[in-house]
Amino acid sequence: MRIVVVGGGIGGLAAARGLWLAGFDVVVLERERTDEEIGGGILLGPNATRVLRRLGVGAGLDKIGVTPQAVRLVRWSNDALLSDFDLARDAERRYGAPYYGIYRPELVELLAAGLPDDMVRHGAEVVGVTNGPTGAEVRLADGSVEAGDVVVGADGMHSVVRGATVGDVNARFSRMVAYRAMIPWQKLPEGTGTVVRNWLGPGRHMNTFPMGAGARYLGMIAVVPEPVWSTESWTARGTVEDLRAHFDGWSPGVHALLDVVTDPVYRWALHDREPMPHWSTTHTTLLGDACHPMLPFMAQGPGQAIEDAAALAACLRRNRADVPSALARYEVARQPHTARIQRMSWSNNTSFHLPDGPQQELRDRGLSGSRSTEGLHWLYDNDPEHLPD
Ligand SMILES: Cc1cc2nc3c(=O)[nH]c(=O)nc-3n(C[C@H](O)[C@H](O)[C@H](O)COP(=O)(O)OP(=O)(O)OC[C@H]3O[C@@H](n4cnc5c(N)ncnc54)[C@H](O)[C@@H]3O)c2cc1C
Repeated sequence: MRIVVVGGGIGGLAAARGLWLAGFDVVVLERERTDEEIGGGILLGPNATRVLRRLGVGAGLDKIGVTPQAVRLVRWSNDALLSDFDLARDAERRYGAPYYGIYRPELVELLAAGLPDDMVRHGAEVVGVTNGPTGAEVRLADGSVEAGDVVVGADGMHSVVRGATVGDVNARFSRMVAYRAMIPWQKLPEGTGTVVRNWLGPGRHMNTFPMGAGARYLGMIAVVPEPVWSTESWTARGTVEDLRAHFDGWSPGVHALLDVVTDPVYRWALHDREPMPHWSTTHTTLLGDACHPMLPFMAQGPGQAIEDAAALAACLRRNRADVPSALARYEVARQPHTARIQRMSWSNNTSFHLPDGPQQELRDRGLSGSRSTEGLHWLYDNDPEHLPD
């Protein structure tokens, strides 16, 4: 069976690995010309790192991943601790896999390492897809055609495969944008510690976490309001001055970090899409941001793409003779789970950003009691290869 994967980001490469290990003939078509990656930091929960271990990259992952000492929610005005989750310290014992801060390009490189040389084709932009009775075809910008028994759209939030197969869904702008920066560790104030911190404040929040093999950087994602629609892009630039201005009057801890931020600062408009009821046809399917883009407020975008990859490989492995049934089973296994995370991420846009007042006090009282991730077992303990009948 030949499988054409469109997109060589985290989801596409994880799928390629899983499908290749299952013995399928795989080609990955990636639009970018080089494998030089842009991108900042991501957090991976044990639900995703467990899958990456099964994909055979566990040792490399342990080298590039940074285990935070703690995951803390903090008050915006004075750095007061709201909650100290035991997730990072306890992930291995509780869920059998680690919780890591990761520099995205290092994960992309790790996933691609060791794949056959000709499997990932760079500079291969897909412009069209046709589903047929026995297989599917993609058309590339250079006019060439690639055919497969299955075409997998792992081509991110602007997915061409989605538009050409199940139809596009309008993006929903959250009226928030995220500034993204990386601070080299040696520039950080003393005592910063390898901690994930989320400062929650009125109308905005700031998230920082350690990342880069050997904890080389502190990643910073600063989410602020922006009433006007702007483009969904991973490469649009922001300025340090604007970033600082958004946090005027915030705590000493926030200012100590903003004082040492330098260019480049990126800025991305936060969109999601309503959960899609279907994303497969008989010989095409989608994974990751192409089918369930989510706001980053549960830090699950990359993790869910990795889970999709494992579920898809499991479905095709177990049902080689009947591709349409395998793709339908994959969708049934993944759609409700990812839709739940999309909805929760969307609602965190409100609860993270409450103005000071009775609702915020209620939220903070609730947080101070919840130190464990008990309520999130369904998320961190999920095994995507465990398929419903
Ligand atoms: C450059 C970049 C930087 C990012 N930086 C961050 C970050 O700092 N923090 C964060 O939380 N998330 C970041 N993300 C998003 C995050 O990686 C994804 O939300 C998550 O990993 C889900 O992955 P995905 O594989 O579904 O999509 P993506 O990671 O978006 O991968 C999609 C891939 O498909 C390729 N592609 C798109 N269209 C076509 C086409 N027509 N033909 C061929 N290839 C195509 C893209 O070039 C990309 O490599 C970034 C994504 C990208 C692409």
